[in-house]
Amino acid sequence: MSTIGFIGLGNMGGPMARNLLKAGHDVTVFDLSADAVAGLKEAGASVAASAGDAASGVEIVVSMLPAGRHVEAVYGGEDGVIARAGSGTLLIDSSTIDVATARSVAAMATDKGLAMVDAPVSGGVGGAEGGTLTFMVGGEKDDFARAQPILENMGKNVFHAGGAGNGQAAKICNNMLLGISMIGTAEAFNLADKLGLDAQTFFDISSTASGQCWSMTSYCPAEGPVPTSPANNDYQPGFAAGMMLKDLRLAQEAAAQSKAPTPLGNEAASLYGLMEAAGKDGLDFSGIIKMLRGDL
Ligand code: NAD
Repeated sequence: MSTIGFIGLGNMGGPMARNLLKAGHDVTVFDLSADAVAGLKEAGASVAASAGDAASGVEIVVSMLPAGRHVEAVYGGEDGVIARAGSGTLLIDSSTIDVATARSVAAMATDKGLAMVDAPVSGGVGGAEGGTLTFMVGGEKDDFARAQPILENMGKNVFHAGGAGNGQAAKICNNMLLGISMIGTAEAFNLADKLGLDAQTFFDISSTASGQCWSMTSYCPAEGPVPTSPANNDYQPGFAAGMMLKDLRLAQEAAAQSKAPTPLGNEAASLYGLMEAAGKDGLDFSGIIKMLRGDL
């Protein structure tokens, strides 16, 4: 069992830290929210006074923060994780952040002789609670090997995606494709409806034909064909449109920096931006079909 400092106890980090406690690790937590900290204390965690305190004297640090600027703030500075972690500490950032920040924070850690991996997740709050997350990990092979058993206490699939930042790269490339495929699927179901083709009939044909994709067969945006999809639950998330928009914007940032043309990714970000502007970004991302129907 390991000594672990855990920073960021929100919707995702809270249940992830609980799963580390359940696995028998000695976990010390920090969050700016006193309520979040109190919940983990009750579950058996020790409480640190700052991010730096949570990182000092432990073997492993895990963070789960909103965005790149929070990761920079927590890892950098005099009382930051990098300054306070002892040599040999492995740093694991599971936040979804931009590739450039992931790489620059990892380089800061390496300069100090610390090991760091980026390990963003997919699977959402349900996956965090159930310990079934998928981790996409960027970093050195040996550091991945050290992180793997810890990540397996919080997830089911743990992939090594390559060097620093490649975990973030895998996450945003996957989610850009998902956003594009969801919009395409929603357009197809909407057009089918306008042409008098009912959703179930179109699903039966297309899900066994060349239009088949995950957005159709596992998460159909039209009401009916896939009982478990948010379409049958008033488009309650699931995976909120606002979270999809965050990932699409990160993909656009990375595309601009790396000069990769992503015209459909750009369009997908614009369309989810319209859902945000309409105040509907709390709906599931498959709710984009409502916008196409003129219902938002
Ligand atoms: P959240 O807003 O619920 O939690 C973030 C936590 O970080 C909060 O408790 C906040 O108080 C804390 N925090 C912020 N700044 C801090 C600081 N300087 N020091 C200490 N604590 C600080 O967010 P979440 O839903 O848990 O998401 C966390 C990350 O996981 C994000 O990057 C998100 O994109 C990613 N993610 C979320 C989901 C999801 O379904 N919620 C799915 C996959 C990935």
